[in-house]
Amino acid sequence: MSPSRVPHPLETPVTFVKRVGPRRADVFASMEIHTVRDLFHMYPRKYLDRRSIVKIRDLWQYVDTGMEVTVVAIVRGKDIVRSYKKRERFILVVGDEQSFMDCIWFQRVRTMDRIFRKGERLALSGQVTDYNGTIQMVHPAFDRLSPHKDDEDEHNWEEMFNTGRILPIYTETADMKDAGLEGSVLRSIVLHAFEKHGTYIEEHLPQEVIDRRKLMKYPAALSAVHFPHSSEEIQRARERLKYDELFFLQMLLGYRRRGAQRVPGISFNVKSNLARTLVARLPFALTAAQKRVINEIASDMESNKPMHRLLQGDVGSGKTIVSVLSMLVAIDNDYQTVFMVPTEILAVQHYTTLRRLLEPIGLEPVLLIGSQKKNERKPIEESVADGRAKVIIGTHALFQESISFHKLGFIVIDEQHRFGVMQRLRLYEKAKTPETNGRSPDLLILTATPIPRTLSLTLYGDLDTSIIDERPPGRKDVRTAVRSKNERDKVYVFARDEVKKGRQVYVVYPLIEQSEKVDLKAAKEGYEELQKGIFKDYSVALLHGKMSREDNEEIMAQFRDGRIDVLVATTVIEVGVDVPNATIMIIEHAERFGLSQLHQLRGRVGRGTDQSYCILIHYLSPYNKAAAFNRGSFNERSLLKDEEKQKGMIRLETIASTEDGFKIAEVDLQLRGPGEFFGIRQSGFPELKLASLVDDRELLDQARSDAFAIVKTDPHLREDSHESLRHHFEHYMKPLLDLTRAG
Ligand code: ADP
Ligand code: MG
Repeated sequence: MSPSRVPHPLETPVTFVKRVGPRRADVFASMEIHTVRDLFHMYPRKYLDRRSIVKIRDLWQYVDTGMEVTVVAIVRGKDIVRSYKKRERFILVVGDEQSFMDCIWFQRVRTMDRIFRKGERLALSGQVTDYNGTIQMVHPAFDRLSPHKDDEDEHNWEEMFNTGRILPIYTETADMKDAGLEGSVLRSIVLHAFEKHGTYIEEHLPQEVIDRRKLMKYPAALSAVHFPHSSEEIQRARERLKYDELFFLQMLLGYRRRGAQRVPGISFNVKSNLARTLVARLPFALTAAQKRVINEIASDMESNKPMHRLLQGDVGSGKTIVSVLSMLVAIDNDYQTVFMVPTEILAVQHYTTLRRLLEPIGLEPVLLIGSQKKNERKPIEESVADGRAKVIIGTHALFQESISFHKLGFIVIDEQHRFGVMQRLRLYEKAKTPETNGRSPDLLILTATPIPRTLSLTLYGDLDTSIIDERPPGRKDVRTAVRSKNERDKVYVFARDEVKKGRQVYVVYPLIEQSEKVDLKAAKEGYEELQKGIFKDYSVALLHGKMSREDNEEIMAQFRDGRIDVLVATTVIEVGVDVPNATIMIIEHAERFGLSQLHQLRGRVGRGTDQSYCILIHYLSPYNKAAAFNRGSFNERSLLKDEEKQKGMIRLETIASTEDGFKIAEVDLQLRGPGEFFGIRQSGFPELKLASLVDDRELLDQARSDAFAIVKTDPHLREDSHESLRHHFEHYMKPLLDLTRAG
């Protein structure tokens, strides 16, 4: 791109748009809207279609049907009411023509009172109830159709709306509202921008792709998304714009993958005696899924391209043994191997497991973790540096300055998303030693948090994927129940009866950094209460992260041997613990745990032949529960302060309803959104404004196949038919590509 490039008309700053002054421009800037083009990409959140509006006098038909309806009405009155139980509520009286209804808010009562003005026109959506003869909407979603200040353009919009136009509704933040950027003002601004600059919008996708996917043209799509004439048109426009987002995301991944494959890798001889010996010694036969995955890995290892493979498999599906067998192949080829895990406890557990597996076949794994003392560490570091250590298990400590490898050929990373790309690259850097001769090690990433396929295609689109979708034989379903704190006593009586029969119990308390002290105290108190109370005739122990490693191991050993009946713990037992006789998992304050944590915790039981149980004790009120189910869609903007509690309830119900890790992960993704779901991994990716990784699978598949084909056949986009694509990509995407490469 030449530096003297004349700015494209769409790069015009928003300040040049009519009705955008410095104040409003500032607010736009805070939303990353700087240019006219950015403004065009500020998509309506939803649309109001005249035909779908219900009159208040007709609302009685919808009472208690659970259907969501929309009313357009004017604010007539408001009040804060305090009932005898001292619970405040805010009542907004709205009316259309001759009819009125009440809107009720139980949360944020003061705020709600502040934001509405008499006389303003609102669109209100929600379910309808009948309260002693008054029609009500509780916590409706609302949009302001006319701003409270007088507005010169308002009339137009009202008129357009009344004559059957579809009204775009944009997201309005508090800052926007303060600057008057709301309702019809916002709509006018977009319209002004379009009238002046809309003609400069160009198509950038190759015609061939547009034909193949029957896509709406880009200029038409942008116009239709803001000023639609029909809902079909909105549908088509959004489809096109979603496709665009997914296509460029996949282009980036395609280039990244291409970059990774250009580095030479190691071509291993996969006929491994060590692996064969270990398989022969195992007390079980590998499952079909394990064998399939081992073959997939073997063919990668044989190839001279570096392996980048993601191995997904639910808790207990047997990923460890698959990884170890692959490591043995590398060791037989005279390479070192690394097994990296996110926590020390997990590192110690893997170290124990791997020693048990490998010592009989003559290999001595070594452990590298931060809490080791210097003199303990020194000999280990030396054996890593001179190549004697073939199996190295460790945490972040592996990245430390003092660690150098001799000939590293194979890396296993457990729970990758806790590490992030940067750290992965650091390990690659360390692998560059004279012995490896510029060849990149093979990488196997394990994840026990199943990743919805859509997401893995997107976020791990540069990786190949293997899935162990079969559990070792003999595993039983775990019965899961959700119980409120009022039913706590009954839960523990049940647990005691199981202990009487010889079973063991886990009781888990939440512990998060922000409230560590309080949480730890709760766990200790819970422990004392159980020990002195219901389990006084049994052996109860407490396990938490603040204890020394030795104490920790000692308690785990006693629990494993059955000398401890009830283990009260903070989440340290989340991963890797394997005690088949423990059949009861009680989770206290279960609403505070994340979905994958709950899933992992439940995975600790159901490992033996007896029926196992997982009981989730929550401290939510029935109101939270009802609200959670009324919400219906997770994505709806909600004004409820206790949204977190509702999500907590949804998490509990999800865990109770399925043991399928993939289903659980889907809900997790919906509740948390992809950014949070993957943390750092997400950085450097373009934002998806319309496309949903959950809902738009088919489109994602199409976009991926189109984008990858182009990256493969015409990586430099030199073909004539790719010219506009090249311009677009270079200008808008390439900086991101460089960023993800650097990261
Ligand atoms: P993951 O790492 O996927 O959570 P692990 O590798 O820790 O699972 O395996 C869980 C347990 O199942 C371990 O005790 C392991 O020895 C055992 N296991 C693994 N594969 C099999 C199999 N094919 N048949 C029976 N048990 C198996
Ligand atoms: Mg494991």
